[in-house]
Amino acid sequence: MNRSPDVVIVGAGIVGAACGAELQRRGYRVVIVDQFEPGLGETGSSLGIAGLDDQNGADLDLQQLGVALWHDWLARENWSSTVRSSGSLWLADSSADWMLLQHKAEALRDRRVACEIVPGMLLQKVEPALSDSLYGGVFLPDDLAVRPTALLHQLLTDLPGRSFGPASRAVVLGNGFVQLAGGKRLDCGAVVNAAGAGSASLTPGLTLTEERLTVFPVLGATRFRRMVRSHGLTVRPRQDGFVCASSCPDRDTNLAALRKLVRSLDPADATADGCVVSSTSPDGIPIIGPSPSQNGVWLACGLGSRGLATVWAAARLVADQMEGHQPPIDDLRYRPERLAHLRAAKG
Ligand SMILES: Cc1cc2nc3c(=O)[nH]c(=O)nc-3n(C[C@H](O)[C@H](O)[C@H](O)COP(=O)(O)OP(=O)(O)OC[C@H]3O[C@@H](n4cnc5c(N)ncnc54)[C@H](O)[C@@H]3O)c2cc1C
Repeated sequence: MNRSPDVVIVGAGIVGAACGAELQRRGYRVVIVDQFEPGLGETGSSLGIAGLDDQNGADLDLQQLGVALWHDWLARENWSSTVRSSGSLWLADSSADWMLLQHKAEALRDRRVACEIVPGMLLQKVEPALSDSLYGGVFLPDDLAVRPTALLHQLLTDLPGRSFGPASRAVVLGNGFVQLAGGKRLDCGAVVNAAGAGSASLTPGLTLTEERLTVFPVLGATRFRRMVRSHGLTVRPRQDGFVCASSCPDRDTNLAALRKLVRSLDPADATADGCVVSSTSPDGIPIIGPSPSQNGVWLACGLGSRGLATVWAAARLVADQMEGHQPPIDDLRYRPERLAHLRAAKG
């Protein structure tokens, strides 16, 4: 019997795969399509930190729900080879930063986020590679280290309805169907536009902006056990050293920031910089909810540089909205209708 899927998901990055997993868990028949082999989008560049990010408080409830749901999924699934519980450290390299960081920790505790204040003199006990000139840090034990591409493939293996390659590029999304470039039309009950940077071309009125991230591996003897963040610099441990991501494009500035963190750094260990783009919404807040310009289409895009952290929260919101349930957090802030261009594009 050839039954139409209940939901077609466009985009087999981590967001589409998570939406697929959540909807399948709720009993829906899901088909996921991608124009390429999965993992070639932003997910393949991700550092893989699933944790709270202190840069933008506007979507902190989504981040907090995201981390909590990561732990729920870990309790159900065997992801031991792709997700590691390592925690992360936010660091302060000046007394002013240290004051701010401690206030942030208090605010997180008020929100019942597990976090521990670590005075400067104890930092090297927690993380021996750190410089001894740091003022202190805040440890978030619930943050997770994910291997994004490996987890993506694991999630997709569990979704039986998959179609990848140029013929599976979605060209039109409509009320109850997805038209593919190869000529095939997929009829369905609902569509999720999770096409990352490609989402904008599929939904009238949707615009996304680029957030440029500089990524540079530092290979060599210096090892971190945990993920570390300071001054816009994020450090993710690797077996052969570590990899940094920064919103600043200047190599010297990034190396100077890194020198403040690391006990000893040989600049020659920092290999060439690469610039990678993350797609974000015009107001920097993820876009999750029914498209105002298309009936039967849900948007899950614009998650920016926190997409991995918030991915399960995005999937939960989409699934709850489809079923008409109230999500565990107020989803109004994330709904696409807040964006004027999308409202204006409504047919
Ligand atoms: C350098 C870097 C480091 C990062 N580190 C972190 C981190 O540590 N923690 C964190 O939380 N976030 C991080 N992020 C952000 C995170 O990686 C992204 O938010 C997330 O991967 C976005 O996933 P996605 O599924 O929306 O997009 P993608 O992974 O880009 O997937 C979208 C998919 O849609 C497909 N597609 C596009 N158009 C079409 C079409 N018309 N038809 C069919 N398929 C289509 C694409 O081929 C692609 O496979 C980082 C981002 C970058 C760039």
